[in-house]
Amino acid sequence: MTPGPENRHIESRIVHPPAAEVTGSRPLGVPIHQNHLFAFEDADALAEAFTDPGGAFAYGRHGNPTVRALETAVAGLEGGAAALAAASGMGAINSVLLALLRPGDHVIAQRSLYGGTTAVLGDFAARWGVDVDFVGGDSAEEVAEALRPATRMLYLETVSNPTTRVTDLPALIGAVRDAGVVSVVDNTFATPLLCRPLEHGADVVVHSATKYLSGHGDVLAGIAVFASADLHRTVWDHASELGASAEPFSAWLTLRGLQTLGLRLRRQCDTALALARRLAGDPAVSAVHYPGLPDHPDHAVAVRLLDGGHGGVLAFDLAAGREAGRAFGGAVRLASLAPSLGGVQTVVMHPASTSHRQLSAEQLSAAAIGPGTIRVAVGIEHPDDLWADLEQALRATE
Ligand code: PLP
Repeated sequence: MTPGPENRHIESRIVHPPAAEVTGSRPLGVPIHQNHLFAFEDADALAEAFTDPGGAFAYGRHGNPTVRALETAVAGLEGGAAALAAASGMGAINSVLLALLRPGDHVIAQRSLYGGTTAVLGDFAARWGVDVDFVGGDSAEEVAEALRPATRMLYLETVSNPTTRVTDLPALIGAVRDAGVVSVVDNTFATPLLCRPLEHGADVVVHSATKYLSGHGDVLAGIAVFASADLHRTVWDHASELGASAEPFSAWLTLRGLQTLGLRLRRQCDTALALARRLAGDPAVSAVHYPGLPDHPDHAVAVRLLDGGHGGVLAFDLAAGREAGRAFGGAVRLASLAPSLGGVQTVVMHPASTSHRQLSAEQLSAAAIGPGTIRVAVGIEHPDDLWADLEQALRATE
């Protein structure tokens, strides 16, 4: 007869402690299931768990309860059938690209994508026989002209970095809708609070959850949301092999951050608009890029597409040019000179010497990035303190 738990040796009791009983109440938060293996009563159930993306959990690379709680939450916010969380935004993007593209396929991608995504697409073209054509974000005709029989994917971003161009998603996606093309939209800058690309015909939405979804600069995470369960399954199959799965603790931090997304982003949108207006009136600034301003080239698209705000990122051009741009980052006192965006602390960057330094002068000007362009990712500090900081940095670098 097997001895009862209390009669086992201490070495066994150390690894099999009795579970605490929770009675009469339930935790309001999602628990962190910081483990990668799950036990089953029978072999068939375990075998099935390896093939069912929505079923029981078997091994952490295929799924985890905390990670699934995040996937369910974001799928719900984006209006998707299911989601797949990843170790980073690039993990989610690569999972989607690797699962859906094969040699001979053709991709139509937006010219102004996040640099990491452009680099990966370049790699697909150079090493894996996938042809990529780049288009602007405002012409459905250009997309229709780029369409070929081999076109498999259209890849867009709702709002571009750093000059905040807003893509006319319904028009561009509409141009490929009847051609069997999978439309993928990176919705990192807008978040589902401001825009839900699946409502505009997208098949997949990707996020760097590192940014607004988690919102505190303490997580690397990504997520892809799918309009259909079939697409989710296809990508899940590959992602499980790729090994870019989200960690339970990162998923938990993202879930916790998500609870304040509404509060954070509304304030960030309001502050960004207030700063954009003030910057537009400053003599040291030659242009402001923010879709909430009526003279932004995509203001009308933004009004149509974005719900209740124009985002927490803005950019502006210093009339004094490159050296002033480089010096500006060192002159801010409340904001920090740092990459990334979407957190509660305001950060500034000089794209021409950092994130976009590999671009030629022509590429920089095609992306409307000037030598003195500064990107501001607005946090949740008091708007007057932020303006005081930007203003003193403007005076210091004139
Ligand atoms: N997509 C956008 C729009 C981004 O800005 C970034 C990162 O800056 C990424 C994707 C990549 O995300 P991650 O850094 O979480 O891999």
